[in-house]
Amino acid sequence: MHHRYDVLVVGAGGAGLMAALYAAKGNVSVACISKLYPTRSHTGAAQGGVGAALGNVQEDHWEWHMFDTIKGGDYLTDQDAAEIFSKDVIEAVYELEHMGLPFSRTEEGKIAQRKFGGHTREFGKAAVERSCYAKDRTGHMILQTLYQQNVKAGTTFYNEFHVTDLIIEDGRCRGVVAYDLSTGEIHTYHAKAVILAAGGYGRIFKITSNALTLTGDLMSIYYRKGLPLEDMEFYQFHPTGLSKLGILVTEGIRGEGGILRNSTGERFMERYAPTIKDLAPRDIVSRSIITEIREGRGVGRDGDAINLDLTHLPRETIEQKLAEITDLARTYLGLDPIKDLVPIQPTAHYAMGGIPTDVNGLCLSDGHGGSIEGLYAAGEQACVSLHGANRLGTNSLGDLIVFGRRAGIYAAQYARQVDYGTMPENPEAESKDMLNRMKNASGTDNAALIRKELQETMMNNVGIFRNGPDMEKQVEIVKELKARYKNVSVSDPSQRYNSELMEAMELGFMLDCAEAMTASALNRTESRGAHDREDYGERDDANWLKHTMAYKDLHNDNNVLIGYKDVSLKGYTRAFEPKPRVY
Ligand SMILES: Cc1cc2nc3c(=O)[nH]c(=O)nc-3n(C[C@H](O)[C@H](O)[C@H](O)COP(=O)(O)OP(=O)(O)OC[C@H]3O[C@@H](n4cnc5c(N)ncnc54)[C@H](O)[C@@H]3O)c2cc1C
Repeated sequence: MHHRYDVLVVGAGGAGLMAALYAAKGNVSVACISKLYPTRSHTGAAQGGVGAALGNVQEDHWEWHMFDTIKGGDYLTDQDAAEIFSKDVIEAVYELEHMGLPFSRTEEGKIAQRKFGGHTREFGKAAVERSCYAKDRTGHMILQTLYQQNVKAGTTFYNEFHVTDLIIEDGRCRGVVAYDLSTGEIHTYHAKAVILAAGGYGRIFKITSNALTLTGDLMSIYYRKGLPLEDMEFYQFHPTGLSKLGILVTEGIRGEGGILRNSTGERFMERYAPTIKDLAPRDIVSRSIITEIREGRGVGRDGDAINLDLTHLPRETIEQKLAEITDLARTYLGLDPIKDLVPIQPTAHYAMGGIPTDVNGLCLSDGHGGSIEGLYAAGEQACVSLHGANRLGTNSLGDLIVFGRRAGIYAAQYARQVDYGTMPENPEAESKDMLNRMKNASGTDNAALIRKELQETMMNNVGIFRNGPDMEKQVEIVKELKARYKNVSVSDPSQRYNSELMEAMELGFMLDCAEAMTASALNRTESRGAHDREDYGERDDANWLKHTMAYKDLHNDNNVLIGYKDVSLKGYTRAFEPKPRVY
């Protein structure tokens, strides 16, 4: 089946819905394709809130937010993106309020705000209340609000359609190909502009907070075309996932006063970050937890967790402000945070890197200003490089609404100016081949086993602490898993809802993301933000103040080519920080 829209959006999370809404407001026809029903997108799991310097509870300024974002990103953040973001996110939050998003309120009726890791006032002096929240269901409310607004604006939705290919010809994007999960049919979509917003890829790790569907599909599709993925080595582990399960325990819980304790009951963050203690940025807290565990002060049966203590908080705070997570601890661990300590461990959480874009969402084809006409990206799968080497909590939801909106506006503007380009003949041929290969393969290898091995080895070899020999080992492991993947066969012949086929395809995407991440991480011989190398412990601005651009070598499937891109600077350097560094 063939369709035609001025603007096509892939993904219906916060970024996709914001982009679709703004494209629809731009007087063009808009369709949004999503492999999930929109309100089931991972954005719905975001609990903590969206950071914006509204100053409702305490004095705050966008310049302070900009500085925190850059410092949190360990100076790899593009400072032009951080400036736009910190200014625009204020207005974007009010806009969501006016669309009807039910934010929690202060006593005077303003949007309530709470503290979050790494967010400070006066350039690092003390923590500030900046996170705007709707209890611990902020992301859920964002999705519901934006979905309703899209329905009102006339966006057409293709739900449970899995995008399998992007059509790019002569440097311009022409559309996409998608597989209809409910019928097994292939659809082609011809468009003037396409916006990619397909989310993260945390599923390449064993312990992750990410939904089952976060498999990096569009990053891989982009990369397979010889186009670059930026800063893939920077992957954030959230310090607090429920032990063994990875399910996220929001940082908001520490914002409300939750404390991390080791097996001796010590509040160990006092040793690692004396000023902001449990609210230090995520990379610092994750590494502190792993250090405690490695030094034998872990808790739980395997000694591989740390306790989160909420028992000193008022019952109402736990029941009302942290309702969702209280429920998860009760359901999955049989523990009641009101009286029990909750065992947690770091969980793979957020991709700082992804498809490179400029500040208007336009996708970049190299590190020197090249771009793909008509192709935009936003959200976790994109890298406008707002988060640099490490994202601050609450800055992702802000990123979705600020840069999702910009991508929508600029894509619609472009679509109004151009004609439909020509679609190549048989645009669906490659997707058909890929699916048929898997359906008809006679190999005996099993996708689930390969996936399990990928997740375990990525966790061990390219996880929180990294070193050269382990990552070199991982390069070989990924090669071997890719070779085995070629022999994977799908036993279920169904046309309708063939989840085995979809999961096998997703595994191929995950292998690409893992390959790009491992090569980029091995190449960067310094420690910065979330990228922590035991063999290169220091940050090295002289050699590494630059973004990595990883390309698949189209002449040798197992080779990754590395290029670089400059960091945009606007005056903030480490010299600007108060001394000593306050955490
Ligand atoms: C548990 C959890 C809690 C979080 N809490 C916070 C928080 O409090 N504050 C904060 O700022 N950030 C938080 N984050 C991070 C933030 O929520 C995510 O980074 C953000 O929601 C990603 O949004 P997105 O729109 O980019 O993608 P998603 O919301 O993940 O949506 C991806 C969309 O892409 C679609 N898709 C994917 N692949 C395909 C394909 N091949 N074909 C068609 N469609 C496809 C999916 O159907 C989906 O609609 C949290 C993340 C997690 C996992």
